[in-house]
Amino acid sequence: MYPAEFDYHRPESVSDAIKLLQENPEAKLLAGGHSLLPVMKLRLAQPSALVDISRISDLKGVREDGDTIVIGAMTTYSELMGSDVIKQKLPCLIDAADNVGDVQVRNMGTIGGACAHCDPASDFPAILLALESEIKSVGPNGERTQSSSEFFMDMFTPKLEPDEVVTEIRIPNVSNIAKATYIKFAHPASGYAIVGIGAVRTNDGNVQLSVTGSVPIAARLSAVESEISGKDLSDDNIKAAAEKATEGLDFVGDIHASDEYRAHLTKVYARRALESLK
Ligand SMILES: Cc1cc2nc3c(=O)[nH]c(=O)nc-3n(C[C@H](O)[C@H](O)[C@H](O)COP(=O)(O)OP(=O)(O)OC[C@H]3O[C@@H](n4cnc5c(N)ncnc54)[C@H](O)[C@@H]3O)c2cc1C
Repeated sequence: MYPAEFDYHRPESVSDAIKLLQENPEAKLLAGGHSLLPVMKLRLAQPSALVDISRISDLKGVREDGDTIVIGAMTTYSELMGSDVIKQKLPCLIDAADNVGDVQVRNMGTIGGACAHCDPASDFPAILLALESEIKSVGPNGERTQSSSEFFMDMFTPKLEPDEVVTEIRIPNVSNIAKATYIKFAHPASGYAIVGIGAVRTNDGNVQLSVTGSVPIAARLSAVESEISGKDLSDDNIKAAAEKATEGLDFVGDIHASDEYRAHLTKVYARRALESLK
């Protein structure tokens, strides 16, 4: 399968990328290409031009900024898994990255691309929501930093203008994280999440949980959080909290798993995620 014809640009800086997006309103940014290119081959997207940001070195790497960990948007899953900072301070992101596709996907797919694509079955939105991450972007009017809950607006719809580039994912208050994890029930063929749960327990007793795969776009499990935060993670408390995992959410179904089954799995995986926070 071949995509429709397109022009190709490879800028060396974020400002040049923004200029190219403004000059070519039908253009799309190309990161790892592991979501965009399949969609183009299916002709579900036919951008007039691709603006390849893979050579912009400012967008790569992991660094610490005080108590915040900053991940460049063009950092691949594999690079993230190899980062000493992530290994020491946020191993839950290694759990999540290890769950993504196969080695080839992890070598090419980027964290910024995963956020901007807003795939309802994508793994990273769930763990980034549970970590209360922020997403920084730059456009013609300057830069802005949004909470991940604002950014992940809807299925395949980030809160992002067509001429805006995601530059960083920022995870604040890392020293307040006592334990965090990502677990997933994967589709046996595609490996994508039927249900994935990101879970965080903070040193001050809050529990933050998010779900992906079973809902139109990754979302916090607010009813579970209110039920369990500040309480002991006893078996009874966990059971009562996990029962609330479907409250306030609409579930999606398809030929692989019905909405009822995904809702059921959301409760099961919420319970397992809470157990792993003990
Ligand atoms: C076989 C296969 C298996 C997969 N399995 C999984 C899985 O199990 N779990 C999972 O979560 N994902 C999975 N993926 C998806 C993979 O993780 C994607 O690569 C990733 O989600 C998107 O990142 P990318 O760098 O490839 O983005 P691209 O495909 O290059 O871009 C995706 C979209 O985001 C936009 N974009 C990219 N970067 C930016 C930016 N910096 N600023 C603004 N917009 C931007 C692009 O314009 C495009 O619209 C799989 C993919 C494949 C091909």
